[in-house]
Amino acid sequence: MTRQTVPILPGATLGVLGSGQLGRMFAIAARRMGYRVHTLSPDTGTPTGQVADREWVADYDDLDAIAGFAREVDAVTFEFENVPVAAAESAARLRPVRPRGEVLHTTQNRLREKTALAHHGFPTAAFEHVRDRGALDGALARIGTPAVLKTAGFGYDGKGQTVIREPSEADEAWQSIGATEAVLEAFIDFEREVSVVAARGADGAFAHYGVTENRHRDHVLDVSIPGVQLPGNGSEEAVTIARGIVEALDVVGVLCVEFFVTRDGGLLVNELAPRPHNSGHFSFDASVVSQFEQQVRAVCALPLGSTGLLRPAAMVNLLGDLWQDGEPDWSAALDDPLVKLHLYGKAEARAGRKMGHITAFGDDGEDAARRALAARERLR
Ligand code: AMP
Repeated sequence: MTRQTVPILPGATLGVLGSGQLGRMFAIAARRMGYRVHTLSPDTGTPTGQVADREWVADYDDLDAIAGFAREVDAVTFEFENVPVAAAESAARLRPVRPRGEVLHTTQNRLREKTALAHHGFPTAAFEHVRDRGALDGALARIGTPAVLKTAGFGYDGKGQTVIREPSEADEAWQSIGATEAVLEAFIDFEREVSVVAARGADGAFAHYGVTENRHRDHVLDVSIPGVQLPGNGSEEAVTIARGIVEALDVVGVLCVEFFVTRDGGLLVNELAPRPHNSGHFSFDASVVSQFEQQVRAVCALPLGSTGLLRPAAMVNLLGDLWQDGEPDWSAALDDPLVKLHLYGKAEARAGRKMGHITAFGDDGEDAARRALAARERLR
């Protein structure tokens, strides 16, 4: 599909809804290419605001502020998918919003997302809509145990979800997720978790960063190793699914597909993120064109760039827990010349909060992961 879209050229101003580390790295990529960047969120002194030309402070549901922001920029994107759809719609009346608000609407709610995936025939774990406590018993009887109960809206990094091992745990589980509309899904005894970061241009062009293996700790991403090869044609299949999803949702921008790889080598889509993703942070240092620059290019209707990996790399996250005994020893981490440090400029280091990451290079992905983990160890 080719669409004629006028490119938004360097010198123009890009508006980002959201102000975290994803917006920060987007802004760095955009400024490097000569764009100006505005960010809007309810906070000040934010990771994105620190590197933007202008930081707007407003609630996402302040539609007058959103409209004022949109008028001052040439295109709008987001780095946080829980921006209310009304905000994206308000901006879209004035400026191009990429990806479009409909993509936000689908992906900010697990039930809508899973329903859309199933509707298009993409593989997911078996799931059921759980409207209320009464519906949970029937869903448990059909899905079986163990199962995972997840809130339908606003969940990420394992927040708002709990495992139900026995039907007798239903009450406790229902209360623990806040007694709210939910999805019950089959518990997958996966072999590993992987993701594909994909990009789609305004002209329909497709790019992907291959298959990245993701290791989690306490439901939060810990280590990512790009360029892994799944057995058989698993890697090609994962990319085909990712391509199918960005095309079915008509995404212009970057979208990450997270998968479970089952013990028999099957792929199940766990979750979508319609923006650059933590599992693609390696690309900032290790790819010809990073996921952040790719988002700039897609939003600006420029040609997508090469996703080629310059050399084997791995990424580890730096969570707030590392600050427990005071400021980490940054110079010790950098003792290895193949280690690169990224800090997001967050003032307060709370436990579990993503404060930065380390990317390391190596002879292969596992060697790079060892170096990145060793560098993190030296921080303490
Ligand atoms: P989510 O917030 O849905 O991405 O879930 C966070 C993490 O919880 C995933 O990366 C998995 O490690 C785990 N998880 C989520 N859903 C399931 C499931 N159905 N079966 C097994 N583990 C799961």
